[in-house]
Amino acid sequence: MSFSSLPGSFSSSSHPLVPYGWDADWEAEFAPYHSEGLLAGRVIRVDRGQCDVVTPGGMLRADTAFVAPHDPMRVVCTGDWVAVEPAGDPRYVRTYLPRRSAFVRSTSSKRSEGQILAANVDYAVVAMSLAVELDLGRVERFLALAWESGAQPVVVLTKADLVPDATTLSYLVQDVETAAPGVPVLSVSSNLGEGLDVLAAVLSGGTSVLLGQSGAGKSTLANALLGEDVMKVHATRDVDGKGRHTTTTRNLLALPGGGVLIDTPGLRGVGLWDAETGVNQVFSEIEALAAKCRFHDCAHTSEPGCAVLAALDTGELPERRLDSYRKLLRENQRIVAKTDARLRAEIRRDWKRKGAEGKAAMEAKRGHWG
Ligand code: ZN
Repeated sequence: MSFSSLPGSFSSSSHPLVPYGWDADWEAEFAPYHSEGLLAGRVIRVDRGQCDVVTPGGMLRADTAFVAPHDPMRVVCTGDWVAVEPAGDPRYVRTYLPRRSAFVRSTSSKRSEGQILAANVDYAVVAMSLAVELDLGRVERFLALAWESGAQPVVVLTKADLVPDATTLSYLVQDVETAAPGVPVLSVSSNLGEGLDVLAAVLSGGTSVLLGQSGAGKSTLANALLGEDVMKVHATRDVDGKGRHTTTTRNLLALPGGGVLIDTPGLRGVGLWDAETGVNQVFSEIEALAAKCRFHDCAHTSEPGCAVLAALDTGELPERRLDSYRKLLRENQRIVAKTDARLRAEIRRDWKRKGAEGKAAMEAKRGHWG
């Protein structure tokens, strides 16, 4: 198994923002702001109109009022690359660079507007605990969210030391692989330190988020990747622009082995998300079958010439997969109905092109994922 770095990865390690994910593409995007004298930085935390930004000169706090204050999808969020004014009180974030990917939560409120949780994520790590019975439907749900964001999903089965033997473990990994076409599935044991080196190598290629329900081992995983206690790392003493010492809670952390981890409370749970594209990607084999149905609008219930039902008959397609697919599609339709279509179209336009490019590159090197 070998892991090459992400396309466009930056060879020069001299830039102080490289540990935070700065690369040649960001440099090119930032060039016009650089010539205006603005500072490049990555947002490590946002808090009521303010954000903490890591810049080549260190950490600073900036006001985000200048950037689309009334549009929830266009507010600055953790993971954004921004152009900040070099001085001023307050100093303002002038703009953020076009996002390569974004995690958006559709809120369940009546107004139902999206909430942007994290930007520019390359890997969405879906943590599932082997201490309890594997819920493949849950894996699929997380994968739909991950694909929808534009990030590459990676499933990590945690607490592998609780599985009695290697054969059982390999069966469990295979089960998850059938529910996760195109997604690498790794098993790790934080207790024994097994599998962590492989995961760290994967994540060193970009920015990651951890997804999974509580008890999935996300905190333990984050601690193991960071090599220290996350809560301690999160609260870091910094010197602000006026020479004062401040304690900053960081939601974006550079990993010691390379790569960046975004860990925000809102991202951890499963909310209501619009993930239609994601759902289709998780169930790509069903989509492929559906393309062979006699009728274009086949509902795969009782239609003649239905390729999906035929595959169900032969056992090629497990019934559980079809049930799960229908359940997620129904769920997603309810969410979509609640969410403002214009907003969603705007979000898509922002990162869909980049996402498609990224996915094509991933396809090209899929052979590398053992
Ligand atoms: Zn059909």
